[in-house]
Amino acid sequence: MKRIVLDPGHGGADPGAVGNGLLEKQVTWMLANKVKEKLKRMKAEVIIVQPSCGNPRSTKDDELYLPPRDANRLGADFYLSIHVNAGGGTGFESFVHQNSQGKDTDKLRNVLHRQVMAYLAKYGIVDRGKKYANFAVLRLTNMPAVLIECLFIDNAKDAVLLKDQSFIDGLANEIAYGLIVALGLQRG
Ligand SMILES: [Zn+2]
Repeated sequence: MKRIVLDPGHGGADPGAVGNGLLEKQVTWMLANKVKEKLKRMKAEVIIVQPSCGNPRSTKDDELYLPPRDANRLGADFYLSIHVNAGGGTGFESFVHQNSQGKDTDKLRNVLHRQVMAYLAKYGIVDRGKKYANFAVLRLTNMPAVLIECLFIDNAKDAVLLKDQSFIDGLANEIAYGLIVALGLQRG
């Protein structure tokens, strides 16, 4: 039984990126819960780690550092950090740690990235690429870890989609299916 930790980026006192009437923490929370729901018939234990569930005023540091620590404590097999981007761009991108280049984690990411992008391309969403970074959640986790940045909250066109429940549901579906394929999950 694979144990998957989903980390909906931000929460509590940390809204994450804000734009077009949306808070990143709300979008990531919704996505994580939908992904979990879609994996419920699979042989996998899906755990959403969200510090604000235990502490409504969780800080930015709590939101950043507690989920990787919990995933390590839980002995998770895979870690997915879900974010929404900001800063004037548009599109989707995924990250693994810079030391994972060409390794298994990178291959798992490629499967997930391809699955999600096939869906997003139908909406004309740009593929910003498969990237490498020294993000804390990627560096501090002991298991394969991927971070996805799902569109830009401060881009008007992206925000229209982020507010569209059927789009969000479809995106969660593809993230879930990407995990099924990447991790070889079987029906339970
Ligand atoms: Zn974020």
